[in-house]
Amino acid sequence: ASGRIFNFSAGPSMLPVEILEQAQADVINWHGTGMSVMEMSHRSKPFESIHKKCIQDLRDLLNIPPNFKVLLMQGGGSTQFACVPLNLLKDKETANYLTTGAWSTKAIEEARKYCRAHEVATSKSTNFTTIPDPSTWNVDPNGAYFHYCANETIHGVEFTLTQEMLDRIGEVPIVADMSSNFLSKPIDFSKHAVVYAGAQKNAGPAGVTFVIAREDMLGHAKNITPTMLDWKTQADNDSMYNTPPCYAIYICGLYFDYMKRHGGIEAVQELDRQKAAILYDLFDSSNGFYTNPVNPQYRSKMNVPFLIKGGNVDLEKKFLAEAEAVGLSTLAGHRSVGGLRASIYNGMPLEGVRRLADFMTEFKTKHE
Ligand code: PMP
Repeated sequence: ASGRIFNFSAGPSMLPVEILEQAQADVINWHGTGMSVMEMSHRSKPFESIHKKCIQDLRDLLNIPPNFKVLLMQGGGSTQFACVPLNLLKDKETANYLTTGAWSTKAIEEARKYCRAHEVATSKSTNFTTIPDPSTWNVDPNGAYFHYCANETIHGVEFTLTQEMLDRIGEVPIVADMSSNFLSKPIDFSKHAVVYAGAQKNAGPAGVTFVIAREDMLGHAKNITPTMLDWKTQADNDSMYNTPPCYAIYICGLYFDYMKRHGGIEAVQELDRQKAAILYDLFDSSNGFYTNPVNPQYRSKMNVPFLIKGGNVDLEKKFLAEAEAVGLSTLAGHRSVGGLRASIYNGMPLEGVRRLADFMTEFKTKHE
């Protein structure tokens, strides 16, 4: 489509043009209903079909076991930071939190309003460039749950649970914030009790938050829990307790359908691997011109932070301006950490990453 740029934003992020074109074709009159999905009652048959298909396609893509509920909520990952303790503490006073970056820090801070949030380990002393060695994890076995962030969007640190980690966690139910790597690879539901993620990176527009919760995690919310934040309320009402974000759900549904038609989660994972490899290989062969601070074992495939000449601010400014001018947009690092960052979610085509890599190679030649 003409005039489109490559948007490396950390979210909301790019969507495949095919989906935008489908939405465009549907916007005035969805499937002969004479109205847009924006104008439909959420209780109408047409919307019910959109809603059901969205959830079923997500189940198919991630192979979600039948004993897990898929809830479509609002308020983003940030609201789930409160929902997790409210729904899972039961009569316990402690919960376990692993701190690996800005987002897991926000999660533990929110949890402190409701419980004794026990920090299992933190990588803060490394400026969140690694995952704390599991041998140092100090999990309270009486904690109501163990919470971790699977991909730190700002620091670019990503990991999956290893057997050693699982041994440290023991029997405590595991809760994962997958906001920024949801739908980039399979999820092992045998290891998780609850997984949550906002849609706006890999799944669609902002406005929908996916909560995938094992059935035995529902029905324990504290009395003070706002009705809307009680996962059981959402489950009992098929996520239609109140008016859901209908249009956002519809776009997510188009995305899931698209992914199913394009090889499913395995195809997505392979493409994400290729895209990330292009950038990390470029850094590693740049003689230190470009550097990524993260322990190579935990480099994120979604959010790729980097520095030029170890953090040369003048060159960063030049880089950003010149990149923007050729349609490579939103490459600044998060304001809290500076530097640069390329977020390469599912909607970023391989072509966009190749173009960025070519630009970076040229930029290096000029400024080495
Ligand atoms: N967790 C992670 C890992 C995130 O990246 C974000 C958003 N960038 C959030 C939580 C918060 O999500 P939201 O903005 O949807 O509240």
